[in-house]
Amino acid sequence: MTDVKPTASHYVDGAYLDDADGQPFDVIYPATGETLATVHAATKAVTDAALDAATRAQAEWAALSPRSRGRVLTDAARIMRERNRELSIIETHDTGKPLQETLVADATSGADALEYFGGIANGLTGEHIQLGDDWAYTIREPLGVCVGIGAWNYPTQIACWKAAPALACGNAMVFKPSENTPLAALKVAEILTEAGAPPGLFNVVQGMGEVGGRLITDPRVAKVSLTGSVGTGKKVYSAAAAEMKHVTMELGGKSPMLVFDDADIENAVSGAILGNFYSSGQVCSNGTRVFVHRSVKEQFLDRLAKRLATAKLGDPLDEETNFGPIVSQQQLDIILGYVARGKEDGARLVTGGARLDKPGFWMSPAIFADVTDDMTIAREEIFGPVMSVLDFNDEDEAIRRANDTPYGLSAGVYTQNLARAHRVIRKLHAGSCFINSYNDAPVEVPFGAVKQSGVGRENAKAAIEHYSQLKSVYVRMGDTEAPF
Ligand code: NDP
Repeated sequence: MTDVKPTASHYVDGAYLDDADGQPFDVIYPATGETLATVHAATKAVTDAALDAATRAQAEWAALSPRSRGRVLTDAARIMRERNRELSIIETHDTGKPLQETLVADATSGADALEYFGGIANGLTGEHIQLGDDWAYTIREPLGVCVGIGAWNYPTQIACWKAAPALACGNAMVFKPSENTPLAALKVAEILTEAGAPPGLFNVVQGMGEVGGRLITDPRVAKVSLTGSVGTGKKVYSAAAAEMKHVTMELGGKSPMLVFDDADIENAVSGAILGNFYSSGQVCSNGTRVFVHRSVKEQFLDRLAKRLATAKLGDPLDEETNFGPIVSQQQLDIILGYVARGKEDGARLVTGGARLDKPGFWMSPAIFADVTDDMTIAREEIFGPVMSVLDFNDEDEAIRRANDTPYGLSAGVYTQNLARAHRVIRKLHAGSCFINSYNDAPVEVPFGAVKQSGVGRENAKAAIEHYSQLKSVYVRMGDTEAPF
């Protein structure tokens, strides 16, 4: 039996820590509304302790050989895999996501990141540049203490996607989870300690935006990596810019998925289901504007509604359940507000969109058809299980309308014409794209956005550029010549 209650609110300097002076807030299980525990927001004493510990640990950690650092990360990955079921149960209590999902998408994805960056740690080198007799070389150095701030949809994965490249490069981290999901990151910290990370290398402090704000502006911090909404991203980016700190911003989106008349409709329906209803639609890269060629629209909607009717809502701990609750009452109210707005604006509600009469934060997954580009539900990120289906007549029109958004996280294309698939993808303004698939995010592939959806990249070798800096060293082999 997994005890999901945290040992204490924070994890600082290699151990659990609490400070009852911090503002208390409840950890609520979204599936039932039950309070699982109460944790405290970090006081200044706690954030100071975390930043001091991280500063100390970073110096010690950066002095280790990259191979030794890598081994700690790969050991942590192994422990995460061994404890996958326990961690998945905790993730399910944190977020409400069904165990069927968390068993394969959360601790496992976190372990993938730790394993990947642990594996490449000893290959992170500078370069040698020959300049005639003189030469130069570069040294890849860590940034220092990094702050990670997470959203609530993937608390284990977000903590690991930030920690793994940061630590591989020789940095330390202070991580603040979303106040909605304080449990999972504590386990990541515990596992890193068990794997041999020095005390203070990865710290977790709880709290609301105010705690994040305090961390960002602290002079001990060199970099901030945020996963959150565009609105929060703008605040965090400007606070970091005031002190010229490095940033990575993984923000929201309103991504398009294009279904052409030559698509395999069953596959396209699968992509639309994955890209709108997995994790109850609480996924940043979701393809929430589904543009379907007019000639196949009714066939697409018919299959979509029939397949959605087979979704199994229920106890997230039952491994047959494949659709869970929304993370909080507040988020549920926001989503239902968008459903009402869609109806008011004249979109056709094909199915779903109703609050379910049971404890916890439940709604049925919603599909709107006949959505037009100007409707609020087609313009704003809803971050819930609400799909908007729009129809189009030709390729150029679909591309133009798909790009007509300030966001640019993801885009997908369903077609069996491969020339068209590559041509269209090249013209779509998005960082993470899919052809005849949706929402795959393996650690080997860079993940990130263009336009207002973000800055920088997570995962893959690309993430290394965002957690390290180069020192250039010029070496003169002869005399130094001066004009006087
Ligand atoms: P928010 O932007 O509300 O919050 C994100 C995090 O930032 C939370 O930990 C929050 O704390 C913290 N925060 C809020 N205000 C500040 C501030 N002024 N200074 C510092 N930190 C602050 O996002 P949500 O948690 O609601 O998550 C949903 C959003 O995240 C969606 O827009 C989604 O698209 C995006 N997202 C992006 C992903 C990506 O990789 N691109 C992946 C997953 C989600 P608290 O909430 O505790 O107050």
